[in-house]
Amino acid sequence: MFYNERINISTEKWCELLSEGSVTTENDLRVFKFIYKAPNHEASSSEIASYFEMPHYGPLNLQIWRFSERVVQKTGIKPPIRKDGSTRWWHVPFLGYDDKKAGRFPWIMRQELVLAFEEVYGIEEEGHEDTFLDADLVQDLQQHSEGEKKSTLINRYERNRQARNACLKHYGYTCRICGFNFENVYGPIGKNKIHIHHITPIAKIGHNYIVDPFKDLQPVCPNCHTIIHSKRDPFTIEEVKAILKGQRNDA
Ligand SMILES: [Zn+2]
Ligand SMILES: [Zn+2]
Repeated sequence: MFYNERINISTEKWCELLSEGSVTTENDLRVFKFIYKAPNHEASSSEIASYFEMPHYGPLNLQIWRFSERVVQKTGIKPPIRKDGSTRWWHVPFLGYDDKKAGRFPWIMRQELVLAFEEVYGIEEEGHEDTFLDADLVQDLQQHSEGEKKSTLINRYERNRQARNACLKHYGYTCRICGFNFENVYGPIGKNKIHIHHITPIAKIGHNYIVDPFKDLQPVCPNCHTIIHSKRDPFTIEEVKAILKGQRNDA
């Protein structure tokens, strides 16, 4: 059985809901982040529970239930209903299917929610972002009350998003190292596609460090980005440029 009932929440609406502290809690965000990163944006509640070292998936299901209730309250949408009239709360943010053979019941993030999540929190560099979240988030949790904690986090994400946009506006979507441009090569489907490399490793950035969008962020293509991170202390943009130039001269 595949559960894919439509609900009336657009990407824009999800953006609002994700940014609204009275709807989306810190814990909800962590769960969404985990599912977002999972293959196919799909994970079962027991997989999520075990990742967060919860002894049982019960509390997690309850958490999603509460989240969905707040979403329904805020938006006035009609949530998916079972034949017996009860509400299928998990089905508000997720699709799902009963994988009887594997004994799994995976949830899949709704596409609109995936897009909203990217819009609000950005698709930052994987490795960097983890350190960034863990170290900073723990500090937040210790230092701030519930309301403040949420807004601090949102502000930081918002700052990063703005920095990213400023960087792209300044440099465009062309690799700073090799000049590769997705749109030139792939046509319209490649529009606005590029990686953003953080020059200052985020792990080293202090709590109140403000990212300089022109110095700290550089658009690079995925190939050059792989080379940059091919050693523990990443290569600089200039170093990779020199490597590339050396190769071209040899050829
Ligand atoms: Zn490149
Ligand atoms: Zn990078």
